[in-house]
Amino acid sequence: MLKHTVCGRFAPSPSGRMHLGNIFCALLAWLSARAQSGTMLLRIEDLDTSRCTEEKAQVLMDDLLWLGLDWDYGAAPGKPADEFYQSRRSGIYKKYFDMLAAQDLIYPCFCTRAELHAASAPHASDGHFVYPGTCRRLTAAQRAAKLAGAHKCAWRIKVPDETLTFNDLHYGTQSLNLAREWGDFIVRRSDGIYAYQLAVVIDDALMGVTEVIRGSDLLSSTLPQLYLYKLLGFTPPQFGHLPLLTAADGRRLAKRDMDLDMGALRSEFTPQQVLGQLAFLAGLLERPEAVTANELIPLFSWEKIPRNNITAVN
Ligand code: GLU
Repeated sequence: MLKHTVCGRFAPSPSGRMHLGNIFCALLAWLSARAQSGTMLLRIEDLDTSRCTEEKAQVLMDDLLWLGLDWDYGAAPGKPADEFYQSRRSGIYKKYFDMLAAQDLIYPCFCTRAELHAASAPHASDGHFVYPGTCRRLTAAQRAAKLAGAHKCAWRIKVPDETLTFNDLHYGTQSLNLAREWGDFIVRRSDGIYAYQLAVVIDDALMGVTEVIRGSDLLSSTLPQLYLYKLLGFTPPQFGHLPLLTAADGRRLAKRDMDLDMGALRSEFTPQQVLGQLAFLAGLLERPEAVTANELIPLFSWEKIPRNNITAVN
């Protein structure tokens, strides 16, 4: 795919019905691309096959199209899972994983979840753990003995004590220290599944994505991702993060807020009413009034979107 134009993407995980927070991000990713006459891609992020299903992916596509959020390439309604489903792409991820291994950039980690919990506190932004480097310090003999044993192992990438800087389309210059914020992060899980951080970078790069618009819960994930872009020799996209929608108590909306999932919204409102509400929350409309996705394109501007999280329900 040539990078002559803006290419945005939807990259949902079909682990449940989308809710207001998910479609807020989907709408703004779509508007940003369309306002620049760009294209949209839909990739199904179903690495976690215990929670994500093809049926849920089909419902998700139907929900996006009901809202009028279309895409130009990627997964297609009515078509079985194909190369735009991450669960079908492990052969591709393996190739890049092997490249990292050949450069001695990764190492096996035998730490259990309980050991990780004991060693460090969860990170405030999204609950990930900063890895203290325990298995990086194993001697070659210790590592070989553990690998030969029955242990399952995850694979982590060695990160330098380095500050990375990027310019977020919404939150401006971000400078974060990779070792302090993340430590050596996982590129393949102990169940053999390639980690989100690795898969998302490979996919966005190979699929020609030039713009990644998503919730600010993933702002700190941009750091490990940028590091992987560098190591794998890919050009990074532009990143733009969005405020999160919250309940009145400040809690982030989640899939368990059933009253705000697409099933409930579709039974009660028209697509234009849902879009009007989202556009109002995003600062694109002065009041929530029915509107189509296409009518919102000329109204899109990062300046109008709040930076703080947005209370979506009282
Ligand atoms: N698949 C992720 C999610 O649904 C989003 C990944 C991304 O936008 O980078 O939370």
